[in-house]
Amino acid sequence: MGHAIVIGAGITGVTTAYALLRRGHAVTVLERHPYAALETSFANGGQLSASNAEVWNQWSNVAHGLRWIFTRSAPLLLNPKPSWHKMSWLAEFIGQIRRYEENTVETVRLAIEARRHLFEIAAREGIAFDLEKRGLMHVYRDSASFAHAAKVNALLKRGGLEREPVTPEEIRTIEPTLDGTFHGGFFTPRDASGDICRFTRGLAQACARLGGRFVHGVEVGAIREAEGGRVVEWQGVDDAQAKGALAADQVVICAGVGSRQIAALVGERLNVYPVKGYSITVAVKPEDVDRAPRVALLDDAAKIVTSRLGDTRFRVAGTAELNGYNRDVRADRIAPLVDWTRRHFPKLDTSDVAVWAGLRPMLPGMLPRVGASRRARNV
Ligand SMILES: Cc1cc2nc3c(=O)[nH]c(=O)nc-3n(C[C@H](O)[C@H](O)[C@H](O)COP(=O)(O)OP(=O)(O)OC[C@H]3O[C@@H](n4cnc5c(N)ncnc54)[C@H](O)[C@@H]3O)c2cc1C
Repeated sequence: MGHAIVIGAGITGVTTAYALLRRGHAVTVLERHPYAALETSFANGGQLSASNAEVWNQWSNVAHGLRWIFTRSAPLLLNPKPSWHKMSWLAEFIGQIRRYEENTVETVRLAIEARRHLFEIAAREGIAFDLEKRGLMHVYRDSASFAHAAKVNALLKRGGLEREPVTPEEIRTIEPTLDGTFHGGFFTPRDASGDICRFTRGLAQACARLGGRFVHGVEVGAIREAEGGRVVEWQGVDDAQAKGALAADQVVICAGVGSRQIAALVGERLNVYPVKGYSITVAVKPEDVDRAPRVALLDDAAKIVTSRLGDTRFRVAGTAELNGYNRDVRADRIAPLVDWTRRHFPKLDTSDVAVWAGLRPMLPGMLPRVGASRRARNV
């Protein structure tokens, strides 16, 4: 079966390693951080959602990006400073607008499969990750956005999703803790939520039980061609003098926003752009246990998603920022998440909140690239 090297121990790398191990490969995962899931797979929105599969490639989003360019609290923020990476990505993003419908249908198909696999893996390996299988509800405040959502729903249904409209009264029944005036919503009963970091680390342990090897604290810097395979070269993150090389039959690049640079090492173009987002995790006090929602929520206008992580945590995430690899947690980008939480859950104590920023690895058409390199063998 041979030896495969997986670069990156986020959710993509660890699920890939697990799939390869179960097919009988020997697997080594190389990761620059000391633990799995320390980058984008650390504190995301927590939604296991097929209902959030609408791709962003629409003229309305381009218009929003331009209109909000100087609004620091806007859900979508484009740093106007040009770079070749950003400009080429935006040009390709616009080029994909004509594929909006087919890419949305393809994304929902993939998401339904991914959701099914994830539930199966968690059950098989006994991974505890605060899974809440209580569905996901999109909410809309006006008739125009609800009408657009109905059109999107037709596409999602074409991809096989079970999702129905709900009235304002039904919104209150489905999630009684949610305060606000809504025109309507859509409910997806099979969507769920959970803690991506706990899932990824639990699965990394399962990989180790299956014989997988994890090498942490190493930064991959070169991938050479070798007889019948590849040699991957790395250096220590804490000690640049520590260098090593490992041979493999196959190399799989799962390096998140680092994938563009790593693909370039083998002459492959992978135009992944880091689309920054933020999350807050509210510590839910024992007296507030029934004041935060259990159903996963998505407020389309605010571009905010929420997940309940067990009794003690409530995650609220959102915003998209095109600002290169900058990982700073900005107060003016966190404030809208806290304000939104206070507005919609006025009885919930928000005095203890952990903040985080992460970089979504995004290709211009929003679909992942899965498959063999077109230019490099064994990658
Ligand atoms: C605010 C926010 C909210 C989100 N909400 C959701 C949600 O609700 N539901 C959802 O499905 N998705 C959500 N996402 C997206 C999701 O989190 C990401 O798609 C996912 O975490 C990406 O995982 P990954 O494994 O591809 O990347 P990562 O988790 O970033 O893993 C890549 C790994 O590769 C390593 N690496 C990179 N370069 C090298 C190198 N040269 N050498 C060694 N190691 C290297 C990195 O250290 C990293 O650990 C959200 C994202 C954000 C930012």
